Amino acid sequence: MLRIDGLSAAYGRVTALQDVSLEVDEGEIVALLGANGAGKTTLLRTLSGVHPARRGRILLDGKPIERSKPHTRVDLGIAQSPEGRQVFKSLSVEDNLRLGAYRRRDRDIARDTDEVYALFPVLGEMRKRIASALSGGQQQMLAIGRALLSRPRLLLLDEPSLGLAPLIIDQIFGIVASLKEKGITVLVVEQNIAVALGIADRGYVLETGRIVHTGTARALLDDPAVRDAYLGV
Ligand code: ATP
Repeated sequence: MLRIDGLSAAYGRVTALQDVSLEVDEGEIVALLGANGAGKTTLLRTLSGVHPARRGRILLDGKPIERSKPHTRVDLGIAQSPEGRQVFKSLSVEDNLRLGAYRRRDRDIARDTDEVYALFPVLGEMRKRIASALSGGQQQMLAIGRALLSRPRLLLLDEPSLGLAPLIIDQIFGIVASLKEKGITVLVVEQNIAVALGIADRGYVLETGRIVHTGTARALLDDPAVRDAYLGV
């Protein structure tokens, strides 16, 4: 479904991604792992089109999209839940979700909003509350729900576990895992390798802008180099 070929990206003279190639098949959950500053967020931002690719190709269903505008990529089925959640704090839960559907012209938005409330019941209970009244975990759920309202085929999640308690992390990752049954493909960026590989089919490890390991979730968890560097064992 998604193929990235020789992708490079930079911030001025700072190279953030160097010759990155990876693939995500339809229906997979793929984890993108690595330490602080490895380039994970840049890769997601380059995929959603809010940061330019300097070199390389991004193919969605075989068609190049690396020059497409972000809204065109949303129309093609790519949605991102950004780092730090970035919900609109002064808007209600309901209005935050509605903003996720801003490109849609169909009549199923209310039904899909109810589906998000079914996935995250607490959002339904708090639908009239402003987003700033939500806990960190609830705001993360809202950011994922907002992305789902664009009806994505490929969902990009940037560090959903950041700053959350283990119980909430398990709950959110359980729900992300269940998106597979809805036919949604997921690329999830995480520093919490164990949690991400717990639900992922495969993973890639980035180090200073390059992919240094790749394999099935099991193979990565069993790889001594990955364990030493990232699992603290
Ligand atoms: P984190 O988990 O901290 O978000 P990351 O793996 O997502 O890390 P990126 O945020 O993609 O990494 O950063 C990759 C590199 O690009 C780092 O060296 C970082 O300092 C640099 N970088 C990121 N954003 C900017 C920016 N706006 N201006 C300049 N350099 C940046």
